[in-house]
Amino acid sequence: TETRPSDGIVGPGSWSLHRRAIQALVGGVNSPSRGLEAVGGGAPPYIARADGAYLFDVDGRAYVDYVQAFGALILGHARPDLREAVVRALERGVLFGACHEMEVRLAERLQVVMGAMCERVRFTASGTEAVMTAVRLARAATGRRLLVKFAGSYHGHFDAVLVGAGSGASTLGLDESAGIPDGVKADVATLPYNDAETAERFLRERGDEVACVLVEPIVGNFGLVEPEPGFLQRLARAARRAGALVIFDEVITAFRFGPGPVYPQLGVEPDLITFGKILGGGLPIGGYGGRRAIMEQVAPVGPVYQDGTWAGHPLSMASALATLEILTAETDLYPRLGRLGQALAQGVRDLAARHGVPVVVHQRGGAVCAFFTREPEVRDFGGVQRSDARAFATFFRSMLARGILLPPSPYEVWYVSAAHGEEEIDKTLQAIDRAMADVAR
Ligand code: PLP
Repeated sequence: TETRPSDGIVGPGSWSLHRRAIQALVGGVNSPSRGLEAVGGGAPPYIARADGAYLFDVDGRAYVDYVQAFGALILGHARPDLREAVVRALERGVLFGACHEMEVRLAERLQVVMGAMCERVRFTASGTEAVMTAVRLARAATGRRLLVKFAGSYHGHFDAVLVGAGSGASTLGLDESAGIPDGVKADVATLPYNDAETAERFLRERGDEVACVLVEPIVGNFGLVEPEPGFLQRLARAARRAGALVIFDEVITAFRFGPGPVYPQLGVEPDLITFGKILGGGLPIGGYGGRRAIMEQVAPVGPVYQDGTWAGHPLSMASALATLEILTAETDLYPRLGRLGQALAQGVRDLAARHGVPVVVHQRGGAVCAFFTREPEVRDFGGVQRSDARAFATFFRSMLARGILLPPSPYEVWYVSAAHGEEEIDKTLQAIDRAMADVAR
């Protein structure tokens, strides 16, 4: 695909960088989710600058950005007050490799906004590290080996969670990455999401082997899929009956639907929580937390080891503190994201119907995704796998050509940011009208 002639959807500057990239970076990328392999291939736009709801590429083309760094951003790009907070921290030094006040303040803030799930907290440099350690902690706390997770969910890129993984791995058909030892696979069980009965049966039959059940309380990695009423409750009850811990991976959902975790909105509490993405305000971050008794099994208090050169990075802490302040102070932020998300979702439904294109559209707050499927609903990974990937590819390319950047995969969610406004939504709906016509053709 790399040598395809330019089809006009990105300019010569992006093509030129793409040709250089594939000769130097493996596959031309540093994260496979950023390539266009799943949507027909060719050069992706190479970004020179970002501002608010927009990305600008090296050819000077502007894109309304619905990738928002794969859900890491909610305030849009380069927000001045956030940037100033990071610059002020930068002026005091970049990296201390020592304890500092900002990490204490951020942990104290999380005790407030995360409640019991952050009686004690530990920051990491990424979501992957946070989940990796939470699983290790659960295995240590229970003395058991088995990790139960759900097909198509993505929890980062360490061995155990790449067994049956979603997101970028699904995009490339690599739900089973090479290089994972059989011994690791033997300690992972992958169940279908939204199927409480199967989970209950599994936990009844093999519950005494299960260390933890790891779940995205709302899935953000095979599109946006919400738990059906009772699913998480039944799952948590069955896990606890089996003596296993419940880990909610809120790397995507925390701070996405309100200025804290999403689990209180769903009416079920986990034993451990992981988070990352949005909290960092664009800088790398991850973290895990829980009640004091379990968290104090982590070193140096307890025997579960985890550390990190970049953990609690001063710039990430400064950016997170400023982000939290904005998210809690701007009371209309989440309702507004909800209104824009709803307008976008309804627009997709209406325009798809006008062109006779069958879609199922999911939306919560500013998170939206459209599945090109004839099925009446999408409730699990299988439903997404059966959707029409070619229709999505046509739609994606048509949107890109019209200056609207969606994630280049039917497994990713579109994010409206606080920097998006009605003007951007209108422009997007105009492009969707044309793109649906292209899909129908
Ligand atoms: N968990 C979930 C639910 C995610 O969506 C991701 C990343 O997309 C991760 C964990 C891994 O986070 P990171 O990319 O920061 O390592």
